[in-house]
Amino acid sequence: MARTQLGEAVSALEAARLELSLESDERITLLLTSLGSVRRLVDAIGAELAAELDRRSAVPETSLARSLGERSPAIALARLVGIDPSEAQDWIAAGTATAPTLCLSGEWLPPRYEAVAAGLAAAALTPRAVRTIVATLDAVAARCGVDELHDLEKVLLDYAPQLTTRELSRLSRQVIDRYDPDGVEPREEELRARSGVRIIHGRDGLITWIVTMHPEAGGVLGAAVDARTAPRRQPSFLDADFADPARDDDDRTLAQKRLDTLIAIAAESLAADHGRLAGTAVTVCVTMTLESLLSGLGAAHIDGVDAPISARTARRMAANASIIPLVMGSAGEPLDVGRSCRLFTESQRRALAVRDGGCIWPGCDAPPGWCEVAHVVPWARGGPTNLDNGALMCAFHHRRFDNDGWALERHDGTAWLIPPAWVDSARTPRRAGRLPRAA
Ligand SMILES: [Zn+2]
Repeated sequence: MARTQLGEAVSALEAARLELSLESDERITLLLTSLGSVRRLVDAIGAELAAELDRRSAVPETSLARSLGERSPAIALARLVGIDPSEAQDWIAAGTATAPTLCLSGEWLPPRYEAVAAGLAAAALTPRAVRTIVATLDAVAARCGVDELHDLEKVLLDYAPQLTTRELSRLSRQVIDRYDPDGVEPREEELRARSGVRIIHGRDGLITWIVTMHPEAGGVLGAAVDARTAPRRQPSFLDADFADPARDDDDRTLAQKRLDTLIAIAAESLAADHGRLAGTAVTVCVTMTLESLLSGLGAAHIDGVDAPISARTARRMAANASIIPLVMGSAGEPLDVGRSCRLFTESQRRALAVRDGGCIWPGCDAPPGWCEVAHVVPWARGGPTNLDNGALMCAFHHRRFDNDGWALERHDGTAWLIPPAWVDSARTPRRAGRLPRAA
């Protein structure tokens, strides 16, 4: 669309407003396409004006932006036009990059990237797209010849009109990487350093994982999850409850399918894992009363998760081989083996994992899987291998406990750590262990 047609296009849009509900789908589509052209034309004019405002604000003493009471041309522009400062930056960058430049001899030189400038003027490109393309070309200009740069300019201009802002940025990244392969590795290091998982336990019982991944991790996890959530794939799950995301009556959202997929992957991994939880095979421990297990009524707890689950869910989980139900108050398990054996048994370790919930040291949040079982009274000094004489501690705190003269006492189910005299001359007991669970 040429600028001379702008008024005409606006009038047509204005006229169509009156009977929008009666228009055909094709007409609505056409109006929106036309609106896009109008916007880009207006933006192109905005970019030109922005470049002029920027030029008039270059010298502090005579700065137009300053005389308007603003610290920068972008803020002045944002306030005058009523746009976001970041959009104002796009306008200034695009306008400046595509404006002819006045050289010292008084001559006007054409813009650096003439095809880009033409694209903006013809409303084919948004100021943001211009900014991205110019930044890309500038970034690779030193590494390629003049002709190559011109070819690249054309290629980017071909792509740009059908790409969203984000897609164009991705393309830009690929182009820069191609011309600067040495830059990829340091950036990857940086992304790796910024990656991680944050876990937030909400008061409402929802647990939010914020997973920030470098590209490699995103690729691996993405492939595993996508393969199982793709509509046409028939996944195989150990647990029938997570099976077949493609079933007809499936009304889960994609986000819910992804979560179910991650849980299914975790369940399979637990079943295949040879690792140890406090010395016992890695499992999910679910604690509930015998009454709840039999009746399916009431609540149960998953080890390491504060919010309760229903007994019904717990019973379903218990049917899965990798989930161990730990029934409280039943005398079925030989938990106390006394002096017969120095090492804690699997069932003792499981019971400790549930009772202690992780390292009992105040403030330490090591989960059961990271812990060892400490003898409160050392085996060598006659301490028995039973639950009363055992406590979960992470390796670091286990060493502190064994070597630095700490002691541990339990009163009414609460553990108290007694510091050695060199830490606290009064040896005042410190409350240890996790917060007791709400019933
Ligand atoms: Zn610890």
